[in-house]
Amino acid sequence: MPFLGGSLWIDFVNTTPVIKGTALDLIGDASALERWARQANIETALANAPDDPAALQDLRAQLADAFDRLAASKPLPGDLIATINHLIQHSAIRRRIVDTGDTIALNEHVEFAGPPVASAVAWHFAQFLGNYEHQRLRHCDNPACTMQFYDVGKNNRRRWCTMALCGNRDKVAQYRGRKAVARAD
Ligand SMILES: [Zn+2]
Repeated sequence: MPFLGGSLWIDFVNTTPVIKGTALDLIGDASALERWARQANIETALANAPDDPAALQDLRAQLADAFDRLAASKPLPGDLIATINHLIQHSAIRRRIVDTGDTIALNEHVEFAGPPVASAVAWHFAQFLGNYEHQRLRHCDNPACTMQFYDVGKNNRRRWCTMALCGNRDKVAQYRGRKAVARAD
């Protein structure tokens, strides 16, 4: 929790959830960041440059703003694009043919250069920009929830970050509402 954004950069924006009324920061300190990176399958041990906590907070704020701009089909700020380009400039896809004798396959592996979390997030953001539909970028329908997501569903009708966190709460509220109306009748 919570990797529900549909793309890693949105999961990164979602690292400030409000759980039971308390605002959390899932990358707020070094150990929290390490945990989040592990859950996100980002390799940090071999990094030649560690992530700078202040730079990550700044990147997250810029990407949160970018989410709303993309959703509204507004242009992205030039300094965000410059930041992303800077972060991904030395990362690359390495391709390797793997021949097992029975099958032959092309393996692709992304090699990140620079601070591992920032580089991975920037890479996924850049990939995302190449192929998305703006109307699929949405905030969770629960006004008390800060989560946002990219709806990959065929019908584009997802309303909640998760059914368990917000969808069920809404169902319970609707049920109570109907009961209250029934009693009033
Ligand atoms: Zn929610």
